Amino acid sequence: MGFITKVAIKKIKNEDVKTAVFSALELINAQQLMQKNNMVVLLKPNVLMGKPAERAVNTHPEVVRAVIQWVKQFNPSKIYVSDSAGGQKPGFTEAAMKESGIQDICVEEGAICVPFEQTEREIYEVKDALELKEISSSRLIREADLIINIPKIKTHGQCTLTCCIKNMFGTVLLANKAKTHAQAAILERFCSALVDIYSVSKPQLTVIDGYYCMEGQGPSSGDVVKLDIILAGYDGVALDSTVCKIIGFDPEEILYLEKAEKKNLGTTESENIEILGETIDSVYRKFKRPKFRPISMPLPRWLADYIGKTIFRAKVKFDAKKCKLCATCWTNCPVNAITPPIDIKKGNIPKWDSKKCITCFCCVELCPHEAVKFKINYIKNAAFSWMGLGFVVFLALITMLILWLLP
Ligand code: SF4
Ligand code: SF4
Repeated sequence: MGFITKVAIKKIKNEDVKTAVFSALELINAQQLMQKNNMVVLLKPNVLMGKPAERAVNTHPEVVRAVIQWVKQFNPSKIYVSDSAGGQKPGFTEAAMKESGIQDICVEEGAICVPFEQTEREIYEVKDALELKEISSSRLIREADLIINIPKIKTHGQCTLTCCIKNMFGTVLLANKAKTHAQAAILERFCSALVDIYSVSKPQLTVIDGYYCMEGQGPSSGDVVKLDIILAGYDGVALDSTVCKIIGFDPEEILYLEKAEKKNLGTTESENIEILGETIDSVYRKFKRPKFRPISMPLPRWLADYIGKTIFRAKVKFDAKKCKLCATCWTNCPVNAITPPIDIKKGNIPKWDSKKCITCFCCVELCPHEAVKFKINYIKNAAFSWMGLGFVVFLALITMLILWLLP
């Protein structure tokens, strides 16, 4: 048995988020982190896009408020609330912070609400890089005395779960996120990139929003689940693994957790995690999974890349009834695989280029009208790939050989 890390689980009773957050933090003795005077504290919620709190896409503003109030007890010099949302266009994060209700909370509580892209940039070197040698992020990551991660429990079409580790992807600035998607198009490489990013911005404390969560087609078009819990802890890997158990997923299926553990960023081992407050069983609620289940392949990188780009290639479908031609998908596709229709008029849909698409799910995640869907036809993809062709030729040769050998 190694080092024991504490994970607190508290139920939110009668919509009293503040009490749940304060008691979860007390259970893990988080006040020990607040010993210095005039601390600069950075809060990193999950602000994916401009959706209201009840849609459960972004960290709930009342959870952000409770964490700000908890920090304020220790007289910090500054509290920043920052993120870089899913889109590439300047102003996207600002709009998302406003519509999510987080900006108003910051004004009311005296915190500084600022998108990372509006702060000074800084390049961070990644130690023992798995995928990214350096990361372009905000100087706040270096300047903050304390970083508090405030992720939300949601399923994720590409990674299965988004919570602690995945939330720090938001420290990468707008267009650089798209670049990371394009560079690490295959899930295996994308998960390596997520772990590299987490290792740079590694938060010292995490408070998980399990108030309104999302199941099924998360992170933006799934179904809302009112789970009514708050989790707090120091180890994002242990927290993510605990969340998996609460929502009926196996931590072993979350590829970035395995990688983060190997990089010594935390533990998924139950015997190294002390659960305080509620038990996992008492808050258990099985979540619907996203449609696509990622398959991890212990293959050479070139072969995994090839299989990912062929067999797992998705077809993007636009729903003409829902699409409002708002331009979000074609302005945010990292490889310009989506273009507007010739006529911007009702009933027309964007054009999608299957050859350019890298199946990054950004269009599905960011469409504000839930008008983009994915379909993967594994058999057809396999049949029309070089691998499929090779297999057919191989079968033909074997058949010919058998026929030739038969008397
Ligand atoms: S599919 Fe969605 S994101 Fe794309 S233009 Fe239509 S409404 Fe906007
Ligand atoms: S079309 Fe959608 S899934 Fe494909 S690369 Fe563009 S944003 Fe990603």
